[in-house]
Amino acid sequence: MSIKVNNLTFKYMVGTPFEKTALDNVSFEIKDGEFIGLIGHTGSGKSTLIQHLNGLLKPTSGEIYIDDECITAKGVDLKRIRQLVGLVFQYPEHQLFEETVFKDVSYGPKNLGLDEEEIESRVKWALSIVGIDYDKYKDVSPFDLSGGQKRRVAIAGVLAMQPKVLILDEPTAGLDPKGRDEILQNIKNLHKKSKMTIILVSHSMDDVAELADKLIVMYRGKNIIQGTPKEV
Ligand code: ATP
Ligand code: MG
Repeated sequence: MSIKVNNLTFKYMVGTPFEKTALDNVSFEIKDGEFIGLIGHTGSGKSTLIQHLNGLLKPTSGEIYIDDECITAKGVDLKRIRQLVGLVFQYPEHQLFEETVFKDVSYGPKNLGLDEEEIESRVKWALSIVGIDYDKYKDVSPFDLSGGQKRRVAIAGVLAMQPKVLILDEPTAGLDPKGRDEILQNIKNLHKKSKMTIILVSHSMDDVAELADKLIVMYRGKNIIQGTPKEV
């Protein structure tokens, strides 16, 4: 799916002494199937921006279009938008709370009301993408996994919803080099195999320079540069 962001501005805590413009007139376009690296210093507005793309935050002004549908308009079915635009939060492993890997990854598809067979096939698919062996790990408690494995199981939980757009907020943060490389390799393979539009948020150019078709660089709430990794 394609994404178009038009003059997006967002303020936290409007009308209080703590009012803060976190996004300042941000505009960009992402084509269907593109791999985007969203980079910028801490506090530059990356997480605030991506939470707008699946309707979790409402802009103070500006519009967002997903495949020509304006998702910032009144009356949009946000549940449907959140299915289409999957968002993996920073430190998603903190949201693993079920007894087994299977239960955690199947949580989303179950809520969609899918039948058992479909749920199982989605869990198998999602775990295969993140390189976790289904038969070996399905009945294991997520608490018994390594940090990198937990992170990958949490990503599988979003993948199991089969979103058309996948957004990952700093998926490599806090991982050792092995965990980091595994995650980046998984995401790279996913992009190759699927036609998903992917947005990978990172502090580090190194994480995305090789993978991304295009980079968007944020600085103090503005997207100051966009272009191919070579151009940036
Ligand atoms: P990081 O790389 O550290 O994750 P980021 O680029 O994701 O940073 P955001 O979390 O989007 O940045 O924050 C953008 C700005 O908005 C920062 O100045 C931050 O302090 C402020 N901010 C973020 N969340 C809130 C909030 N819930 N209430 C008030 N201000 C906030
Ligand atoms: Mg952030």
